[in-house]
Amino acid sequence: MVHPKESTIVLYPSGACESPATIVGGYVDRIENKTIIFTDKTVFHPVDHKWPDQPADEGSITLDSNEHVVKDCYIVAYNKEDQLLYVGSNIPVGRFEPGWIFLVAHEVSTVVDLSIAIGNSCYLAVNEVYRQNLSKVHTGVHLASLALNAAVNDLWKKDVLRDDLGHYDFDQRFIISSKISVQESVDTYRLSKSAKRKGFLVSDFFENIAGIESSVNQIISEWITETGSIFITPTEGPLTQKRQWVWYRNDLQVTIPCGGTHLENINNLNAVSVILSRINDGPEFIMITKASIS
Ligand SMILES: [Zn+2]
Repeated sequence: MVHPKESTIVLYPSGACESPATIVGGYVDRIENKTIIFTDKTVFHPVDHKWPDQPADEGSITLDSNEHVVKDCYIVAYNKEDQLLYVGSNIPVGRFEPGWIFLVAHEVSTVVDLSIAIGNSCYLAVNEVYRQNLSKVHTGVHLASLALNAAVNDLWKKDVLRDDLGHYDFDQRFIISSKISVQESVDTYRLSKSAKRKGFLVSDFFENIAGIESSVNQIISEWITETGSIFITPTEGPLTQKRQWVWYRNDLQVTIPCGGTHLENINNLNAVSVILSRINDGPEFIMITKASIS
């Protein structure tokens, strides 16, 4: 095992799908017949260990004209002091912990001779259609979350943090999970007793959930007739950097913290539709968002 010295530079926030890179480390799992490869930079979006909303990219890594399918892509943290690697949900520290670096792990289901490969160049290529479909749904669900904030704005009786459109940030306060696929995003929200204490009219919300659903759909259908660029910033840099989704709506810059990938303009979307469903008459509901591009 050779350990890399720096966190992986990520290129996917710019939308990049292909790039040459240098192999800087990795390890072989002979029991499971697989190799984990670290590169100096990557176009592969790994699944996030803390907020696994957008799944890993699919694609391949080519070494010495041998193309290896990347079976999985995730985050590995390396502690420079104890020289141990921690994978995914086993990572015990945050991204800014001194003495740690964070790496994008490309897992291939072959045994690669790393003693030869490390230091050599390779070529990374992501499946563009799969990426585009994930980006489409991810952009759709960001709009859905902002539209949901707008649709329930009158149900707040106390002043809480607002989003950049000026509505109370219901989404950020109550979302508990988000699962994006190429078909849809399933977002789960919990309105527990503390929601009432925070000034949100929970029973009014559930009594009128169908009306709120149609308001959300109405708001998004108006937004997607507009033109407004969308991007992730910074577009390139260490995996550990904090990133933001930005939507320029006229003169307004609307931002949401985000580590995923997105479309380039709101007018790329042809339709976005949302369904809200309460789970078993309890405090939770799901929002299912589907999106299509023109
Ligand atoms: Zn996001």
